[in-house]
Amino acid sequence: MGKSFNKVWENCLSIIRDNIPYQSFKTWFEPIVPIKLENNVLTILVPSQFFYEWLEEHYINLLKKTLRKELGSNGRLEYSIVIDSSFNQRKPYTIQVPTSNIKATQNPSIAMPIDLNRGKSKEIPNPFIIPGLRKIKVQSQLVESYSFDSFIEGDCNRLARSAGYAVAEKPGETSFNPLFIYSNVGLGKTHLAHAVGIQVKNKYSDKIVLYVSTEQFIAQFIDAVRNNNQNDFIHFYQMIDVLIIDDIQFLSGKEKTQDVFFHIFNYLHQRDKQIVLTSDKAPVNMKGIEPRLLSRFKWGLAADLQTPDFETRIAILQKKLYKDGIKIPTDVIDYLAFSITTNVRELEGALISILAQSSLNKKCITIDLARQMIDKFVKNTAREISIDHIQKIVCDFFNIPLEQINSRTRKRNIVQARQLAMYFSKKHTNSSLATIGLHCGNKDHATVLHACRTVNNLSDTDKQFKSYVDELDKKIKT
Ligand code: ADP
Ligand code: MG
Repeated sequence: MGKSFNKVWENCLSIIRDNIPYQSFKTWFEPIVPIKLENNVLTILVPSQFFYEWLEEHYINLLKKTLRKELGSNGRLEYSIVIDSSFNQRKPYTIQVPTSNIKATQNPSIAMPIDLNRGKSKEIPNPFIIPGLRKIKVQSQLVESYSFDSFIEGDCNRLARSAGYAVAEKPGETSFNPLFIYSNVGLGKTHLAHAVGIQVKNKYSDKIVLYVSTEQFIAQFIDAVRNNNQNDFIHFYQMIDVLIIDDIQFLSGKEKTQDVFFHIFNYLHQRDKQIVLTSDKAPVNMKGIEPRLLSRFKWGLAADLQTPDFETRIAILQKKLYKDGIKIPTDVIDYLAFSITTNVRELEGALISILAQSSLNKKCITIDLARQMIDKFVKNTAREISIDHIQKIVCDFFNIPLEQINSRTRKRNIVQARQLAMYFSKKHTNSSLATIGLHCGNKDHATVLHACRTVNNLSDTDKQFKSYVDELDKKIKT
């Protein structure tokens, strides 16, 4: 007559309890239910695949040791895992230990029905709602206006957009899993990520979609650890059909959160749930992310968003104006699209401030107003200094009209202003000599090079001139 399985497990627990932090014990061992002991094999019921993997990864040695102590060297452990009930086949299966090999879970050996009520039956709290509320309702957190409809397609975003669309049509069924969208700021990652979620919701109203920022995810996890309900946090995320996590680069250096995300990722991915991630960098260029997680980021499709070209920028502005029912002169739209090139958010910001200025101060919307606003904008956001900006400062300084610099005139003072504009453009922008020449009176690159040398030489020999150069430099930089 051997020992009862309850007794064996109790003994194991008392050893385990002394060897790990209390919180971990509560999280990972209290939910376990011993089921049977047959032929020196102890079977324990664990609430999920994820749970099993976690035990295998973090506690396998401890488990082995304690079992050996209880059952002798031929004692073994088997898990019964409660499979996600969304499969509607409530058939837990068992896996034999010692394996320490998570891959074994992909080939379950036996399937046997079991009384599931012995597992966790309590409701999983939702980290998004106030604790105490009973019913789980996953708020998708999607922003209605960030739809595919309002996302302008251009060469800059075609791949990412169509991949996003494909994923939304068949979440989890394409090879784009995860879909990894990356770009510099203000180019539409967040917008596109929402668009995918909105589209899924439109097409499959029963799918659980969740948009969450990485900061929010981290904060929830920290909370869960603090309140000792990590399990609930994890279970909540395991219910999601389409998980969208924005700005995943913020996981950098957060090892614990990466760990938990790794397991959630695996859990969802194995069940063909869709994962959408955005980042400010391509996976290869990300720093501070564990290799095993990084390699998963590359499993699906990584698609980038480039800066939109002139036509796309115009289309974006027009769409926005149309949506808001506003009309402004085309030349102003052109001017905006021409002047703000690197960031859609700035483009929209400039448009909004022009609209605000015009309605607050009852001014007509003209190119002049646009120019003033953009100058302000350029200063406020410390954008890259533009050639236009430099020309304007130089002309103001010498009190000459802006057109003169771009004319063919060879008047001495104009030539000098033009040379200074070229010199500062070389110094403060990344533009090539040819581009600078083109924008400063349609000159060639040799002329720009000559201008730079002349300014350098004069600065060395002419104190007055040098003081102009220094003063201008300050003005341009502020
Ligand atoms: P990111 O997340 O890459 O920083 P966002 O998604 O927040 O950028 O985009 C910034 C702003 O630009 C948003 O208001 C968004 O609607 C707009 N935007 C970006 N790309 C497009 C596009 N292709 N069509 C329409 N609006 C866009
Ligand atoms: Mg964003």
